[in-house]
Amino acid sequence: MNHPENAKEYKGLQVNSGVKSQPSVNPYLKVKKRKPTLTAGEYVEGILKGNVTILGQAVTLVESTVDSHQQIAQEVIEKCLPHSGNSRRIGITGVPGAGKSTSIDVFGLHVLRNGGKLAVLAIDPSSERSKGSILGDKTRMEKLSQHPLAFIRPSPSAGSLGGVARKTRETIVLCEAAGYDNIFVETVGVGQSETAVHSMVDFFLLIQLAGTGDELQGIKRGIMEMADGIAINKADGDNIERANLAAAQFRNALHLFPPTPSKWVPEVTTYSGYFELNIDVVWSMIDRYFEYVKKTGYFQQKRNEQAKYWMLETINEQLRHDFYRRPVIQALLQQKELRVLNNEQSSFTAAHEVLNHYYNQLKQP
Ligand code: GDP
Repeated sequence: MNHPENAKEYKGLQVNSGVKSQPSVNPYLKVKKRKPTLTAGEYVEGILKGNVTILGQAVTLVESTVDSHQQIAQEVIEKCLPHSGNSRRIGITGVPGAGKSTSIDVFGLHVLRNGGKLAVLAIDPSSERSKGSILGDKTRMEKLSQHPLAFIRPSPSAGSLGGVARKTRETIVLCEAAGYDNIFVETVGVGQSETAVHSMVDFFLLIQLAGTGDELQGIKRGIMEMADGIAINKADGDNIERANLAAAQFRNALHLFPPTPSKWVPEVTTYSGYFELNIDVVWSMIDRYFEYVKKTGYFQQKRNEQAKYWMLETINEQLRHDFYRRPVIQALLQQKELRVLNNEQSSFTAAHEVLNHYYNQLKQP
């Protein structure tokens, strides 16, 4: 049990804070924008056959902001949709350093031992491809990245959270159509992105650490409330006792929360990703959850709600994009901003006037 983090100076519980600004391997490297070479039908055919190269290219189209790429991407998604849905979608969150990549590596292998295929996706609105993507990076999941049945995809590059999340949601469809029946969606448990992940997965796992100061401090109540399971990592060596203590505290804290919509009572377990201890305990919790929600019908109910949510989200995003991209609106907004700041106009009438201008623009042929 000699993980370097267990050394005295770390107390075994280091929370990394440095991941946000990973250095670029080669800042001068420009990612070339390649033209899509296949037709939508060819992409779909390749995806349905489980061709990983074509799947990867299709995901790149989904992530592209170029209109012509988006058109093909949307057609591909539409055609893949009837072949999607047949998977377990699992969200995994935790602060940087909680051990997400280490854990996903072993969780993934554990899942793959039972057959099937695994896709690991990520949502990290702060990451930029050119700066070296943070989550879902292949180099972070050494064993999985060499597994022929695992498909690992970094977070779509930086953009609005809604945009990044939508792309990941669409990528899930493509992966499922390609036969990936286990989908992990990873996110950093420090911002808003958990809400986005929560809205696209069946089970939401929160990875926690014991002994990082006051056990329940710094854990946003909102994230705890979303969790279907809490797994306390690094329960190895001297940490085991502390992890057990933390587990008891989390269980108590969870009692204070209102019942979840599924009526499933979130469970708390301890494990060690690095030493591969109790991995089966974490997964038997997840298996039990799926059995439970499939029996109660909550599984389908939640997926239906999520489908509605994404329709509305997409509308919101498109409207916002269409509004703010217009030069006339941008100019008008600048003017109005000044007037509002100088107390020459109220925020509300300014907003109305800008919107009216937008509506009038829409009416023009
Ligand atoms: P992430 O930022 O959440 O993806 O965390 P990483 O998986 O990169 O892990 C952060 C650090 O914690 C690394 O040094 C890991 O080796 C270490 N670590 C991960 N899992 C365990 C564990 O189960 N036990 C111990 N002692 N250290 C771990």
